[in-house]
This record gives sequence, structure tokens and C-alpha cells, in this order.
Amino acid sequence: MRTGQTHLFIPGPTNVPEVVRQAMNVPMQDMRAPDFGDVTLSLFQDLKSVFRTKLGTVMIFPGSGTAAWEAGITNTLNPGDKVLMARHGQFSTLWAEMAERLGLDVHLVDVPWGAGVPVREFERQLAADTNDEIKAVFVTHNETATGVTSDVAAVRRALDENFHDALLFVDAVSSIGSLDFRMDDWRVDLAITGSQKGLMLPAGLGILAVSEKAMALTETSTSRRAYFEFSDMVKLNADGYFPYTPPTQLLHGLRKSLDRIFAEELDNTIARHTRLAEGVRRGVAAWGLELVAEHPSLHSNTVSAIRTPQDVDAREVIRIAYEDYNTSLGSGLARLAGKVFRIGHIGDLNEGMCLTALSVAEMALHRAGADIEFGSGVAAAQRWFADETPMQQPLAVAAE
Ligand SMILES: *Cc1c(COP(=O)(O)O)cnc(C)c1O
Repeated sequence: MRTGQTHLFIPGPTNVPEVVRQAMNVPMQDMRAPDFGDVTLSLFQDLKSVFRTKLGTVMIFPGSGTAAWEAGITNTLNPGDKVLMARHGQFSTLWAEMAERLGLDVHLVDVPWGAGVPVREFERQLAADTNDEIKAVFVTHNETATGVTSDVAAVRRALDENFHDALLFVDAVSSIGSLDFRMDDWRVDLAITGSQKGLMLPAGLGILAVSEKAMALTETSTSRRAYFEFSDMVKLNADGYFPYTPPTQLLHGLRKSLDRIFAEELDNTIARHTRLAEGVRRGVAAWGLELVAEHPSLHSNTVSAIRTPQDVDAREVIRIAYEDYNTSLGSGLARLAGKVFRIGHIGDLNEGMCLTALSVAEMALHRAGADIEFGSGVAAAQRWFADETPMQQPLAVAAE
């Protein structure tokens, strides 16, 4: 029998705050009632500020982040369109696979898992593409499998410097509401997220923000789509309705989670993720272990992917943490299985929770055979959490 809390340190689904869970405990509602917009209209508006867009259109599809990918591609691109993508982790790999299944002509740049989006190679291909054959560039902002955050603004500059007209698509599933993301400043054409990451909700909402330029393409896009038709969605959303039954509970939960983000203030939410992630990274460094991210500039503030020592099976670490200490750590995905475990530090989290993650990981690592000094990671994180003042620079920046 398990007693006490089960700890969830995976990068999605993330912990749902108690008040958000309570907010979802409401009776069923008539989704065609005249006052249904009272629930929904503010959501579209407020999500815009989380994506940091004034000009974009926000849509909420019942589905997960993957559904939002499909909606985005099929409403804006045509089968045979050439698109530029990079594979540097499991999520960017799956996205590329979907683009291929949907008939796009995918030009892939493979880089090591642990690297960021290869901006220079993108730049080279954009410069060589003088006839503007590339219709879209896809960027995974935060590769959740490797704990790598890429520089979206740099991809925008690469497009601009080559006067290239391609659309800029961003998978922001594990960054929206947790990392700095600027749709309008970076002129992102399509950004997506899912409800179960930074928005601290159960899975079930695929959320998109679409630029005016991308929105206009839905009229000419020849990709087949039915359920995900943007024009049906926006038409009904204008009055707060949906073209089919929306998950009303999740919408109530979204209202509450947005209220929490605004109460903390988005900039502070982002700063909290930076502070907590830095504590976890200091813990990992104190163990003498390495992150998958190749360079400190790539460190993700929502998830850390940690390499176990060569002779230690990361699956064992995860198993021990789960079975004996009621704690879920994230697994190593695909080629990282057995070599990596992840600590998700995204969403509704605080210092004590991060210390718990480190403390349990120390026990599990030790029992799986790693040479870890008990308390070393915890102490390093404690020093950061206790000493930190707003003026203090994160480790990665200070070291450079
Ligand atoms: C979680 C995640 C997804 C997949 O989202 P689902 O909601 O599971 O469909 C896609 N991309 C990234 C970067 C993610 O972290």
C-alpha cells in the first residue's frame, strides 16, 4: 500500500493545483446556452497574453498537443510543400514524422540529441533557397526529451536576413506559460501547446496561436481536414461557442490556471522556472553527472535530462524511485532509454518539491549502483535556493 503523496516530477502531465482541480468540479453545462461565452470568451483573450500576441488568433481544440500540430499543418500547408525541420530529440522526431505522413516534403537536418535547432544550417538552406520553395520552418522551442531550449529569435533573424517568406512554426508545448516566449516579437506564424504542461491542467486541450499571415492561408490550403477546420472554429468562437462539444470542465480549469499565472504575473512565473531549474542543475552538477543539453546556453528551465553513469541503467533509477519512493521521474525517450532520466520542473512547483526530487533521485541512483554522496545534490540546491538574491546570476551565465 502506498501512503502519503505520490510525487510527479515528469514534464507533463504536470501537477494540477488543488484550486484548479476544484474549479473543474462543476455540473455539466449547456454548451449552446446564451451565456456560455461567459466561460469561454475571456480564455481566448487571456491565452493571447500567455503567447504574447496581440495580432494572433487563439484556438482551443479538444485533443492533446499532437492534435494541435495536425491542425496547424493541415490548415496552412499543402501536400508536397517543402518544409525545413530539425531532429534533435523525440518530440522533434515525431513532429517530422507527422509532417511526412501528412504529405509534406520534409527537409530534415539531423543534429545530435542534446543540440539545439541548427540555426546556421537553417540559415544556409534559406539563403540557398532563392525561389522561396521552403514554405515553412519548424522549430521545437523546448525539446522535452533532451531538456534543450532553442533560440527561436535566431531562426526569425535567419529568415529576415535572407528576406525569406517561409512561415515560422513553433512547437511550444513545454514552454508556453513557463519559458520566455514571444509570438509577436519573434513573428511566429503558428505556435502550439497542450493543456497538461505549463498550463497545469489535465491533457485534453490542444491550443494554437496563429498569425494573420498563417490564418489567411486556410482559404487556399489544399490539405484534407475536417474536424480541425480553422474556419469552423473561429466562426463559432467569435461568440464563445465551438463547432462540437468542448470539454467544459477543462475550460473551467483553464480559467483558474490562467488566473493563477496572472496573479503570479507571467514574468515572475518564468523567473520562478529559471530559479527552480537552476537549483536542480546545481544538484546534478554536485553529483558529478551530466545533462544531455550540450551547452549551458541550451539548458531548459522546464526539464532536465540527466545522464546516468555508464554502468548505471537509468530505467533502474526510475523504477526504484517509483516503486519504493512513490516518485515519478521522467524516462529517457527512444535512443536515450536506459541512459537518461529526467526531472520535470514545470508548472505548479516550488523549492521544497525540487529538493524532494533531488533527494529521492539520490537514493534511487545510489541503489541502482551510482557513486553518489547522499545530500550532495540536495545541499547544492539548498545553497542556491537559500542564498539566491535577485541579483545573482544563474550558474550557466556566471560561468561564461
Ligand atoms: C508533450 C509534448 C508534445 C506532445 O504533446 P501531447 O499533448 O502528448 O500530444 C509535443 N511536443 C513537445 C515539445 C512536448 O513536450
